[in-house]
Amino acid sequence: MEVRFLGPLGKVTGSCAWLRDEARGWSFLVDCGMQQGERTATQWNKGTWPFDPSSIQFVVLTHAHIDHCGLLPLLYKQGLKGTVFCTRETQAFATILLKDAAMLSQLYTAEDIDRIEWREHRIGPLLGGFLPVSDDLFIRYFRTGHVIGAVSVAIHWGQKGPGQRSIVFSGDLGPNREDQEYLPFIRHQMNAGPFDFAVVESTYGATVRPAEQLCANIRRNNLCKLLDRILETGGTLLIPAFSFGRTQDVLFDLHWIVAEAPERYAEVNFYLDSPSAIRMHPAMLEALKRTESNGKHQKVRPLWLGKQMFQWFGLKDEKPDHIDALITLCEMCLSDKHQRHVRVRNVGNHLAHSWRPVFEHISGNREALHRAIGTPAVVVSSAGSCDGGPAQWWVKRLANSSSNAIAFAGYCSAESAGGQILAVAQLPMKERQRHNSKVSWANGDVLSYREISAEVTALSGYSAHADQTGILAWIFSTSPKTGDLYSVAKHIFIQHGNDGEREALAAQINHTGDRGGFELEVMMPRDPEEWFNLEAESDGEKLKKRELELKKEIQRIEAELKLLNRP
Ligand SMILES: [Zn+2]
Repeated sequence: MEVRFLGPLGKVTGSCAWLRDEARGWSFLVDCGMQQGERTATQWNKGTWPFDPSSIQFVVLTHAHIDHCGLLPLLYKQGLKGTVFCTRETQAFATILLKDAAMLSQLYTAEDIDRIEWREHRIGPLLGGFLPVSDDLFIRYFRTGHVIGAVSVAIHWGQKGPGQRSIVFSGDLGPNREDQEYLPFIRHQMNAGPFDFAVVESTYGATVRPAEQLCANIRRNNLCKLLDRILETGGTLLIPAFSFGRTQDVLFDLHWIVAEAPERYAEVNFYLDSPSAIRMHPAMLEALKRTESNGKHQKVRPLWLGKQMFQWFGLKDEKPDHIDALITLCEMCLSDKHQRHVRVRNVGNHLAHSWRPVFEHISGNREALHRAIGTPAVVVSSAGSCDGGPAQWWVKRLANSSSNAIAFAGYCSAESAGGQILAVAQLPMKERQRHNSKVSWANGDVLSYREISAEVTALSGYSAHADQTGILAWIFSTSPKTGDLYSVAKHIFIQHGNDGEREALAAQINHTGDRGGFELEVMMPRDPEEWFNLEAESDGEKLKKRELELKKEIQRIEAELKLLNRP
């Protein structure tokens, strides 16, 4: 088996690794992502592959984000006939996100998306189990806590036993670690291994987040301050948020704030204007209900619903009525407030009892709603960067009043509309008035700097990515059986992330490895044409070979000695 990293190599979007085993006749991909906002995006997204797409037997996906799966329909259009292996949840979310991407990118059509042959294995536990592709090739999934459905993907080849080899791809790692969960809609990251090889992401490989960014209370307090501001001004708070993950976390926090002080926020109108988020919510609720039994004792655990949610609402995860109550609370959070809802009254804490649905889902006439909008109001809307989607529409209408506020829930690149608006917000109001520049969009829309008088901020604490500490926690973990520290693999490729982040992470891996007495090989692939051999010998094999060499050497010396001692 050998691996070639086609992307993203020093970038953060367009993940794709090609694995090939000529002796066994395998050729397959792990992820097949679109590049977004990169200088090389147009070229990459044409899908000029070093292989014939019809020769690829299957693709395994780590998760549904477009930078990991966005070129799949193009592969099918170009001749791929194989299966796409992933979790059922990744299939559901990717289908929605790919349809949005098809409209924006024009690279493929909805028919190409319909051609994808999705498959989740139906036997064995989904997480941790050996899922067979054939009798000598297996896939294993481990939850990453990045978004619902997201997993690290391990590939094992060869017959079971000491000769079997393995490589694990981390996929995007999330920030929730066991017993330190602070984001609501995802269970903690799972540790896995050890494997022979590991491929790790490094989006935030150089960043160690301060404690206040890892705290649910501080995150909610910042949001609370913005709500209090619009109560004072009677304005509208616009929160542009990515439709998958971040939107749901923001909705959860706003429900929490209202549940803690229902009277204070009674006059605030809440709107969700994010068509893809609204389309995703039924699949999300299904996912939160999903459980499986695992291990020797067949312990039953939710796959994606974290125990932090039970704790926050004073619920017990072993009681059926408590589990049902938690699902009801999630339903209230993700569905329109005008749907019929049953309040949770008999179980849980005060927060659970006062939790109520507060959001109206917008569909249809945005213009009429804008005219009729009661104030104060909150609009949560996609796209998170305001590049397209309803958020672009809202930002143009809300930016011009100082009673309004715009709070970005996630990362906005400097070139995006959100990034430009955040940069303008750094300028004193007087200087903005002197400026003759404009924020501009691809469709010709513009917003003059002079018009931006709303308060503009970036909310922190909603990132779905682990920082350096979180990535290291995936690489180095303690065995639950022996209590020993182990490394996920001896040979580690850092594949995903810009070079500054990759170098900082490599230095930390080496440093931690040295302290723990691990002999590690850390590699940063740079050449998309380079193949890496994954059949390098294991320690046991190396020792055996050396033993044989030494035995031969002894025989040779003994023979030579005999000749010398001959009279
Ligand atoms: Zn991702």
